[in-house]
Amino acid sequence: MTEPRKMPPIYVTQPALPPLEEFIPYLQQIWDNKRLTNNGPFHQQLEQALCDYLGVKHIALFANGTLALVTALQAMRIRGEVITTPYSFVATAHSLLWNGIKPVFVDIDPATFNLDPDRIAAAITAETAAIMPVHCYGHPCDVGRIQEIADNYGLKVIYDAAHAFGVRDHAGSVLNHGDLSVLSFHATKVFNTFEGGAIVCPDARSKRHIDHLKNFGFVDEVTVVAPGINGKMSEINAAFGLLQLKGIDGALQKRKAIDARYRAGLGGVKGINCLPDAGEKVANYAYFPILVQPEYPLSRDALYRKLHDNGIYARRYFYPLISDFPMYRGMPSAAHSNLPVARKVAEQVICLPIYPVLPNEHVDLIIGLIAGKAGE
Ligand SMILES: *Cc1c(COP(=O)(O)O)cnc(C)c1O
Repeated sequence: MTEPRKMPPIYVTQPALPPLEEFIPYLQQIWDNKRLTNNGPFHQQLEQALCDYLGVKHIALFANGTLALVTALQAMRIRGEVITTPYSFVATAHSLLWNGIKPVFVDIDPATFNLDPDRIAAAITAETAAIMPVHCYGHPCDVGRIQEIADNYGLKVIYDAAHAFGVRDHAGSVLNHGDLSVLSFHATKVFNTFEGGAIVCPDARSKRHIDHLKNFGFVDEVTVVAPGINGKMSEINAAFGLLQLKGIDGALQKRKAIDARYRAGLGGVKGINCLPDAGEKVANYAYFPILVQPEYPLSRDALYRKLHDNGIYARRYFYPLISDFPMYRGMPSAAHSNLPVARKVAEQVICLPIYPVLPNEHVDLIIGLIAGKAGE
């Protein structure tokens, strides 16, 4: 056994936080103008700043990503069945259940861990209204093939882009594909506003509709056009987002360097596979997943425990599969035989710590633990 490391724990992520004193002037402004929420000045500034930074036309900010997903489905009036991936955070499928929609799980592509376009058509029925893919770990889905299928069958496409902040493909922001894309700005994400989220909209009309939906359906003081919800982002979160945006490029550069260090260090370790990118032009290095293969001397869970015993709190994202949770596992599409790739990946994956202030020595320590002999 290795001596347990006498250092503070290293978690899978650590939220980026600018110096507190830099946030005080923003708070002072809120205290001065007494605008706390309801499309205040910071909210408007952050929407514009994010459109500029991400390269998208319209953004509607939300209190969190899950409310944004639920509202995106409402905005598109989706009913019936939606095709989605079992290999994601549970909020993807929960947003369907909250709309009374039946999720239909389709297996993932072993090369990208994203929804496998080859398997989508076979899952379409008369009830299918939309596809909800996830750009897993920030690696873009096969957006061209997915759009082709959606066009052929008259389906909407709503991307859960919670991992895909800042990611670009050959055409620009990956957030411009499909009918709507949904972001999360949760504390654990690449760009955080403590809690927060957004819907990327293709045109001003859909943004206006979504802005109504996130504010109870109010259009003006006396007019309510839809059974909306309260999904608004507060001025505190929006102000923090503006401050965070100043440091985002530096944060992404640091993530990129850590990603490269892991790849170099783990490249020669037998039985450990690092997930390649999916051809994106600009990546965000949001996660660092490895697959623990049968050739590796330890099982995935034994390696996971070994890391834990050494204070490295890596996580098994995404295990269990969404389709294995009790509210989904009875569904026909949740059957083991329908999802062999997702099941295998879920049993082999570990996401290693990656965040801007993770020091090289810690990266090397983690590489050393993984590369070490089985008996250690
Ligand atoms: C984080 C996440 C969400 C939920 O976002 P919140 O802002 O935490 O509500 C949804 N989908 C995926 C894939 C996520 O990773």
